[in-house]
Amino acid sequence: MENHPENNPEYSGLAVNAGVAQPPVVNPYLKPRRRVPLPSASELVDGILKGDVTRLARAVTLVESVAPDHQALAREVIEKCLPHSGKSRRIGITGVPGAGKSTSIDVFGLHVLRNGGKLAVLAIDPSSERSKGSILGDKTRMEKLSQHPSAFIRPSPSAGSLGGVARKTRETIILCEAAGYDNIFVETVGVGQSETAVHSMVDFFLLIQLAGTGDELQGIKRGIMEMADGIVINKADGDNIDRARLAQAQFRSALHLFPTPPSGWTPEVLTYSGYFELGIAEVWDMIDRYFDFVRENGYFERRRHEQARYWMYETIDAELRRRFYDDPDRAARIADAERLVLSNRLSPFAAAHNLLDY
Ligand code: GDP
Repeated sequence: MENHPENNPEYSGLAVNAGVAQPPVVNPYLKPRRRVPLPSASELVDGILKGDVTRLARAVTLVESVAPDHQALAREVIEKCLPHSGKSRRIGITGVPGAGKSTSIDVFGLHVLRNGGKLAVLAIDPSSERSKGSILGDKTRMEKLSQHPSAFIRPSPSAGSLGGVARKTRETIILCEAAGYDNIFVETVGVGQSETAVHSMVDFFLLIQLAGTGDELQGIKRGIMEMADGIVINKADGDNIDRARLAQAQFRSALHLFPTPPSGWTPEVLTYSGYFELGIAEVWDMIDRYFDFVRENGYFERRRHEQARYWMYETIDAELRRRFYDDPDRAARIADAERLVLSNRLSPFAAAHNLLDY
């Protein structure tokens, strides 16, 4: 130690001492953790049908898992739950961060539960893998609702692509419905493509907007507005009421520019305040009216059929891709083909065809 450079008197105040022997990294007294055995599909299904939240949560975890044995079990559970599903009102809720989604879902949820029934809040947040943990569908953001015995709140599945995350949420809807949840909220951030995914699994799509900048409409992607069945302007309270009304008028006139949606329902624009709980009943009256309207004219069924078809093809596409890339023999060939393409010895098209035909 004496000859350690930092023990040179030049470094006054610093002394490097001999270290101590490190304790073993592995605790010899720790019992190896027992892997919790997987429940059987019928155990899970029986629990779910009885409304057992622990079993439901376990099944959702299996749906979200990437382990092949979990996925196989999840598929079996979903198939058995399917005949008991479909009876809920599925409502998508979107808005940019800060629009007031969690505040609003908290009060909307309590409003809905006042009439009895059960509510599940799910989320689709494709960024959650990167941010390690979802900011959506988070219990801490929905304080009152998370304590309600009839509310089941589940953050976004975090694995994989947007399509994968969305598929898992869609499967979770089936499980929740089988467990008797008759209102399902699917929350998403109003940026990127996640709205399209949510739109493909809900009956009603609610867009939460803010007033204030005077040119609200510019920032909104036309596609999102076209998908909305209702636009609600939040934070219509205090000094903001006039601005919210102005935004309401702007949205209403902007909606006139769009053709009537296939539902035949003209999207409504309302103002409310999630924080001060103003105008909440009006928002839900609109949603009730929408459901009456589309059940009456047959669009409700038609949209669900279209969605089922969409998810079938979506799953085929994803599965084909997975099987293609997961084949270890092919992986080596893909690497070879890539080298040939990059050195101009094979065209990208020929390479792709060779690999597909292999
Ligand atoms: P999210 O990111 O869309 O989930 O938005 P939050 O619900 O977290 O709300 C963002 C911020 O806006 C929070 O500070 C809320 O307190 C506030 N906020 C939400 N709703 C209202 C409202 O109706 N009025 C006012 N004045 N503030 C609100």
